[in-house]
Amino acid sequence: MKQVTGAVCTRCGHIVAADPDITVCPKCGGILDIQYDYDYIRSHVSKYDLLDRADPTMWRYLEFLPVEGLGTRPRLRVGGSPLYRADALARRLGIDTLWIKDDGLNPTASLKDRASAMAVVKAEEAGRSVIACSSTGNAASSLAGNAAAAGLSTYIFVPSRAPKGKVAQLLMFGATVVLVEGSYEDTFRLSAEAIDRWGWYNRNAAINPYLMEGKKTVSLEIAEQLQFRMPDYVALSVGDGCTIAGVWKGFRDLFEAGFIDRLPRLISVQASGCCPINTAAAAHTMDWTPQEENTIADSIAVGVPRNPVKALRAIEESHGVTVNVSDEEILAAMRMLGRYAGVFAEPAGAAGSAGLKKAVEQGLIEKNASVVSIVTGNGLKDVNNAIRAAGEPIAIPADMDCLLKAFDERGISPA
Ligand SMILES: *Cc1c(COP(=O)(O)O)cnc(C)c1O
Ligand SMILES: [Zn+2]
Repeated sequence: MKQVTGAVCTRCGHIVAADPDITVCPKCGGILDIQYDYDYIRSHVSKYDLLDRADPTMWRYLEFLPVEGLGTRPRLRVGGSPLYRADALARRLGIDTLWIKDDGLNPTASLKDRASAMAVVKAEEAGRSVIACSSTGNAASSLAGNAAAAGLSTYIFVPSRAPKGKVAQLLMFGATVVLVEGSYEDTFRLSAEAIDRWGWYNRNAAINPYLMEGKKTVSLEIAEQLQFRMPDYVALSVGDGCTIAGVWKGFRDLFEAGFIDRLPRLISVQASGCCPINTAAAAHTMDWTPQEENTIADSIAVGVPRNPVKALRAIEESHGVTVNVSDEEILAAMRMLGRYAGVFAEPAGAAGSAGLKKAVEQGLIEKNASVVSIVTGNGLKDVNNAIRAAGEPIAIPADMDCLLKAFDERGISPA
């Protein structure tokens, strides 16, 4: 991996060689961050080369990724998700220019596929055939799917509150699924113990530094889809903090390589019922405090974030904006994304857009700003909350009089 110079510890600064089996700092146990040789990258690929590539997947950015090659196993088509210009939604939100990056259109329907595809390649490099993770749901379903395609087996730990759709995905992909009674924190702890005990490859995103490198491809795509002209802001939801850290890393890589000439500011969105990272970020401190997990947005219900350091640094370095949103605001954003953009988001997938709306209302960002809002997960994963957001359909017997009456009662005039 000539493009990779090593991995630096985010806690003590110790530098180690990048090895798929070294996933935490050998000195202090801190989280590692992969480092690149941007001169090397610049001399091997230009932004025009990228624009010309045929591969539509995240692997089109190979020079920016910490892999030797792609292995020999079959892979799902991860990445290449659409970036929609969303004018009608922009008008609703009260801003000039809005794009929706719909990452719910990945193979297992969330942005997590970018990390899991990377985990599978790294497990293969490390010569392992069993991968494990704990997750609020999507990391698990994406790992199970990407591993199934590659013929690897998976052990998955999820909190028992995980929505049915995500659990169904796990079972369908043949994972050994353990539903843990308790919080995400409890689930994480049990998975860590089991991983230690049986020596499985560890996909836990905060611990394994390669996963963020997969997630950063969403930023490389956004930049490329905008012909490398950066928006003012990028909005997304935050749980453990790996996604926002990855998003920031992607933009910074492009900046360091000279592919873009300015960096967007991040809009970090959490649920008001669970916002430890935003609380610390707003106080400009690295000292975060655990919180309860009170939100319908299960994917970001993370009371004890696993990657607070990288996330807080990303928010700070980008001069980021923090916004917390209520469940009502998330449900409203789900309705708006569906109705005005044709995009179906799960609660955590819509939270970024809910936060964007609130940031405009509170004057935290300018009305003439250009913004990319990332939809991180698809609404079909959590149909119960979708119905809660959108309401029930008209239910009647198969009879025209009943239809006329129902339309009349609801003030619908079809003609
Ligand atoms: C995991 C996830 C997030 C948050 O990512 P973190 O790395 O935990 O901060 C947001 N939305 C969805 C749909 C997710 O699955
Ligand atoms: Zn260290």
